[in-house]
Order: sequence, then C-alpha cells, then structure tokens
Amino acid sequence: MMAQYLALKREAGDCLLFYRMGDFFELFFDDAKAASAVLDIALTSRGEHDGAPIPMCGVPVHAAEGYLARLIKAGCRVAIAEQVETPEEAKKRGGSKALVARDIVRFVTAGTLTEEALLEPRRANVLAAVCEMRGMAGVAACDISTGRMELEECAPGDLGAVLARLSASEVVMPEDLPSRLREGPGMGLLPTSAIPRSAHEFSSDGGEARLKGIHGVATLDGFGSFTRPMLAAACGLIAYLDHVGRGSLPLLLPPEGRATGEVLAMDEATRGSLEITAAQGGGRSGSLLAAVDRCVTGAGARQLAEDLAAPLAQKAAIEARLNLVQWLHADPLLRADLRDVLRALPDLGRALGRIVAGRGSPRDLGQIRDGLSEARRVHDHLQGKPDKPALLEALVPRLGGHGALTDHLSRALVTTPPTERSSGGFIAEGYDAALDELRLVSGNARRAIAALEARYRDETGVAALKIRHNGVLGYFIEVPARHADRMMAPDSGFTHRQTMAGAVRFNSLHLHEEASRIAEAGGHALAAEEAHFEELVQEVVADRERIAATAAALARLDVAAGQAERAAEGGWTRPEIVEQVCLEIEGGRHPVVEAALAQVGERFVANDCSLSPDDRLWLVGGPNMGGKSTFLRQNALVVLLAQAGGFVPAARAKVGLVDRLFSRVGAADNLARGRSTFMVEMVETAAILAQATERSFVILDEVGRGTSTYDGLALAWAVAEAIHENNRCRCLFATHYHELARLAETCPALSLHHVRAKEWKGDLVLLHEVAEGAADRSYGLAVAKLAGVPKSVVARARAVLDKLEKGRAETGGLAAGLGELPLFAAAAHLEEESRDSLRDRLQGLDVDALTPREALDLLYELKRDA
Ligand code: ADP
Repeated sequence: MMAQYLALKREAGDCLLFYRMGDFFELFFDDAKAASAVLDIALTSRGEHDGAPIPMCGVPVHAAEGYLARLIKAGCRVAIAEQVETPEEAKKRGGSKALVARDIVRFVTAGTLTEEALLEPRRANVLAAVCEMRGMAGVAACDISTGRMELEECAPGDLGAVLARLSASEVVMPEDLPSRLREGPGMGLLPTSAIPRSAHEFSSDGGEARLKGIHGVATLDGFGSFTRPMLAAACGLIAYLDHVGRGSLPLLLPPEGRATGEVLAMDEATRGSLEITAAQGGGRSGSLLAAVDRCVTGAGARQLAEDLAAPLAQKAAIEARLNLVQWLHADPLLRADLRDVLRALPDLGRALGRIVAGRGSPRDLGQIRDGLSEARRVHDHLQGKPDKPALLEALVPRLGGHGALTDHLSRALVTTPPTERSSGGFIAEGYDAALDELRLVSGNARRAIAALEARYRDETGVAALKIRHNGVLGYFIEVPARHADRMMAPDSGFTHRQTMAGAVRFNSLHLHEEASRIAEAGGHALAAEEAHFEELVQEVVADRERIAATAAALARLDVAAGQAERAAEGGWTRPEIVEQVCLEIEGGRHPVVEAALAQVGERFVANDCSLSPDDRLWLVGGPNMGGKSTFLRQNALVVLLAQAGGFVPAARAKVGLVDRLFSRVGAADNLARGRSTFMVEMVETAAILAQATERSFVILDEVGRGTSTYDGLALAWAVAEAIHENNRCRCLFATHYHELARLAETCPALSLHHVRAKEWKGDLVLLHEVAEGAADRSYGLAVAKLAGVPKSVVARARAVLDKLEKGRAETGGLAAGLGELPLFAAAAHLEEESRDSLRDRLQGLDVDALTPREALDLLYELKRDA
C-alpha cells in the first residue's frame, strides 16, 4: 500500500494527497502534519516507514467538502485519489490479498473550483496564466464556474496592474518566466503565489489549436483578434485545466480579447488604498463595492465587482452603460418589478458551469429551466417598452430564444429536482410512458405489500405483525418474539430469516415476488432516469454559449438596475463624461465614509473639486482628522464609479476621461504590509512618476511622511514639482507640511486648499469643509487634546512648540532658503546642459592619442566638474 501511496504522491507533486480508504480520505507524512494543523484535527500514526511511525490524519468522505474548503482557503491544493475498482474486482484480478487500484481523479485548487459549497456566490473565481513572447506579456484568465475567458496582451511593466485587476485565485506561469516580469512593478504586491509549469505548455500555435478544437471552429476570427502572446497564455491556461481535471475540461466560452487602453489602469497599491473590492482588513464590508452593491443576484454582484475592478476608458462604452442606468433610474416601478423577477433567479451561469464540467445534478438542470423561463419573462416584460437605450436593445434578444429547451426541461423534470441523481425521482410523470409504467408496477407492488400485511395479520391473528424494509434484508415480515411460534408451523407459508432480541423476522413467497417486482422495476426506472438525465445534459451542453449569453445579459441588467437603485437611494447623479482634461465635482461625497457616519447619526459634509489644465494640482492642507484623505479618495472614487458606467455620489460631476488612476498613502498609514514601509512608499511613488500621463489622475496622501521631517519635506517638495512639471496630470496632494505652500509661487497650475477647522472656547472644531487658500496652522496640539492626551502633556507640548516656533521665526524655518532654489524645470535643464557639454568633450577626444597618464587626469577632471 505504501508503494502505491508513494507513487500517487509523486504524481500529486506539491498538492496534498487525499488517499481514499473506505469511508475516509487519509493523509500521510508531511501532508498529514500540514492538514491536521490547518484543519485542527487529530494527528495520529499508522505503521512504520524506514523505521519511523508514519504520521496520519483523515477526514470522512461524506464531510470532505467542508474540509476541502478550509484547506483551499488556507492556500493548499489537493489531489484526490479515489478507489477506481471495488474490492471484489481487485480480488478477481489479483487474488485475495490484492490491493484496490487507486488513481488521482482530480485536483482541487483555488482557481479551478466549481462546487457551489466551495464558491462564494457574489465573487468571481479567476484562474490566470501569464507568459512572455516577443517582449510582450500575454495574459489569459477564466472563471471556470461560469466559463468566461479573457485574453489580453500588455507591456511587461503593466503586468502587475493587469493581474491586480483580475485578482486571480491562482496564477500559472512558465517556470522560465524572465524575472523582469516575475518581479516587475506591482508583482510583489500580489497576494497570490505563482504556480510554475513547464515552458512548453505555453505555445501560441498550441493555444490556437486548442481553442479551435474546443469551440469547433476553423478560425478564431469570429471571436476577435488575438496576438501570439495571448494565444500562448491561453495554451498554458488550458494545459493547466487539463492537468487538474485529469483530461476533462470545464466549461470554456469563446475567449474575449481585451485591447490595451480599453480599461482604466490601476495598480495593486491603488486598488488597495481605494479599497475597491476589499477593505484594508481584507473583507468585503467597508469596501466601495459593499457600499455600491444593490444587486439582487450573485451573478450581478460578480459583474459589478468586475466593473469596479476594471472601469472603462472609452466614452462610448461608458455612455452606453450610463444610458441604461438612467433609463432604469427614471422608472422606479419598472425597476422594482424587474428586480423582483431577478431576485428569484437561480445562478444560471454557475449551474451551467457544473453541468458542462460533468458535475451537474438534476437540481442544476432545474435551475437552467427556471433561469431560462424567468429570463423569458424579463424578455417579454422589456420587449414592448418604448425608448429603450441601445445597450438594452442589444440585451433583450439574448434573454429569449430558449423556448424548445425550456419546454423540454419543463416536461421532463419534476418541480424541485433533487441534488442527488443516484436515487432517481427527478423525471416528471407523463414524460416517458415506459418509466410511468415501471413506476406503476412498483407502486402497485408497494400497495400489494401493504395489503399483504393486513392479510397476514388476519390470517395469523398477530395484530403486531409488520412488513418492514431495510438495506440488508430487503422486505421482511416481523413479529414480536412471543408470537414467533405461530409463524413457525410447517404449513404456515412463512420461512424464518432472522431472530432478534425481541422480534423474529420471516419471509413469504408472495412477499418475495412483490419485492422482486419492486426491485426490478426500480432498477429499470433508475436506468431510464439516468438515460434521460444524460440526454438533457447533452442538450444543455450543446446550447451552452447561448445560455451563458443569457446569464451574462441578466447579470448586466441586475448591475444596471442595482446602480439605478443605489443612485435613487443616495441622491446620486449621472456624471457627464468628456474628452477634455478636467474634473469638476460639485457636492461630492465619499460613499463609504458617508454610510459609516450615517450609522452613528452624523452628516457628511459634501465638497467640491475643480481641476483643469490651468489648475491641475491641488495641495490640500489642514489638521489631522480634518478630512483630507476622505476628500482625496472621494474624488478618485467618483472618477472610478463614473468610468465604470454608474451614477456618482455628487450633485454634479463632469469627468474628463482618465487613462490611469493612482492613489498613494504615506507610509505611516500602511504599517500592516510588513516590508519597510518607507521603501514601499517610495517604490509606489516612483511608479507614479514613471507612469502618470497628462490624462491620468493621481491622489497623493501625505507622501514623504514615512521618514524624517527634512527628508520628508524635501521629497514631498520634489515629487509635487515633478508631477506639476513632468507628468502634468490632474493631482490632489494632501500634506501637513505648510512649507509646501510656497510651491504656489513657482508652479502656475498648482493651487492651495485646506480643510477648515476652528477653535471654539479652546476646543477644536473640525468642519470637514474644503476651502481655498493655505491652511493657517496645523492644530496638532488641539487634535491631541481632542484625542484625550492628558492636559499636562498638551501643556508641556505647547511650551516646546513656542520655543521651536521662536527658533523658526529667527532662522526662516524649515523651508528657509528654498525660494532661492532654481525651479524644478530649470534644475533639470541645468543637469541636461552639463550632460551635453560632457558629451561634447567626450566626442571631441582622440582616445588613441592619449597617454595613460593623460587619460587618468582627464577622468579626475570630468569627475570634479560633474
Ligand atoms: P485626515 O486625512 O485629514 O487626517 P480623514 O479624511 O481621515 O482626515 O477624516 C477623518 C475623519 O473625519 C473621518 O473618519 C470621518 O469620520 C470624518 N470626516 C472626513 N471627511 C468628512 C466629511 N466631508 N464630512 C463629515 N465627516 C468627515
């Protein structure tokens, strides 16, 4: 057995091996140690290997799903080794001592789950594959629970942002992926670890061939145009799916190509700090998604999460979504009706996923039937409506057209089919005359048995006589032990079967006949149901693409109706999307902070923001807790929501399209990350300076805070200047360095703003209002007092502060002399000039004519001048 185990374990590689033994899955050696720790189950031992006891633990097969879920959550992957023959078959094959043959039937990994119990209904589960080809990164991603597949290509430097958007549970990559990609920008911040696979699994020809084969087409042109890197990534993805499914592929819909520039780019740091789909703590609650989500279906919630993770970057596509939201916003009655119907929908996409993966149940077929007929209702409801926006005109036809399939499923299935198919009972009466006949036979036989019981009681006079049934004996007659003698008479017609403590069991010829009739009819009925099941599954599989399209259309409708609902609830408005570089927001609010304040009965103070090419960088000062971060983020979130195609929490918003969105928070807020926080801050800031364009929007919150005052001020100063001069993007920059206010003198497109506060009767009042001009003072001590720092400490701080401020007045303060620095652009220019003169001198040199001594002198000279 150990030899068999070790062979399977080799095949399982770094996956935990679940080794089936009767009613248990057993784990051995290190697997047992790891699993018992994660699952908190007893670690025992069994037998010996190389003289040492073998650690072992096990989980019962019937409860395996729950244990699997916990292992997957903890980041494990599991190989399931089943018994692939019965003990009888093994004996026949190899004698009485033969070992039952076992084989790995499947790998369970985070990215390849289809089980309802292991998936979160409102969250997509994405598997991604990455590769490199011709200097570009190819990315393939799919959610096998619904079959959606997406291919894209990006510059190696953007890979981190693309993977951050996909938020995959697993990422597969060739083992020789260059470190340039493996360790590129943003890659280190990703939570998922990579799974290395053999490099030859990533071939573009292979990918093309596999996709053509799967979809039965001669060319992929009908699906879109795909580049070599995309196809190579698809190849790696499909090869991995093949591997984990042991050759059986899950549902894969035709791939959708994503062009670069189609979506608003955001890296992992930005996503984290804006708390888009998860709050800083990791959970969904407290995130933007949770504050916006009013979807009534799991599929809608998954679509919304995707929309927010990948907002659009093209006006026409955004307007199309907005038009639909507005249409539903304008008609509350229609919206309520629509949401009522949607609410009752089963998860069509995931039911389809299970059926195509070969793990479907009668209940899944029932869900397809119900989902499609509800879709039909939505179709009929919307079809006649006037003035439908274009997106809706495109969605409506996808909701109908399943008449024949729905009809067939309705006739074939009972109202609520069971999740278990092995005991039958899911095919409706009247669907198959032969099946009805079989059921009639067993029904009659059951009635006959009931009649027999009455007759035997009469005949024997034993009122306590019963006909019963169990799995071992089948049907039998049972009487209390004291009446057994009466039954034993030679001509009684009863034969003895079993004597129990208080009862004796018998058989009779009649009973035997009726019981066989039931067994035989039952067996045939089961076989008939099984055949019908297969046939229905085939029909669903054949129609999978159109069913998936219906599911997607329903999800899109749910998102739009949910967005409209959310807007109506919060007084949100439709943003105006324009091509110019601007951002004008009146009465903007932060949906998450507003909701949190509402819970404690406080009101959110709405604020305006107005950025344009002439006034594109706002420095926002003011006391801690004054509302700077909130203001920065709410504006970034308005942009994000608008480009995702939804209404925004503002009285009015005009959003000039943004190509990349960046959000950075000074290190002090980010202690949880573990890496040197100041280093992280600078790495992230460097990415902005390298990547932000004139169309980008950047929010920087207290950048430079993670280091000493002088370093921090100097860095904040230089970063603000560089953003103003080089990147020229729209930017909100929150800082508590008053000294930065002097940048306004030299940077024409930079303006000063602050969150207002005032002292009233010695107490600080934070107004959370953004106003023009520099902050007058920092109120640090007042905030400390507000926070409950003891009076004596605040008083002492006041004395220290007075002293420091006196010193500042005398020396000109922290930023003394900064006004004399050459402007940022001029400084860069100077540097360039000296580079030019260096180049001239080098080019004028006749190297061969120099003596070694002269060369050395020249080097010293150049170094001095540099
Ligand atoms: P800062 O970045 O200036 O330290 P924050 O933006 O973190 O301040 O805000 C601190 C707290 O002030 C928030 O948690 C919230 O409770 C409150 N707050 C911020 N902005 C507003 C607002 N516009 N209206 C009402 N309360 C606000």
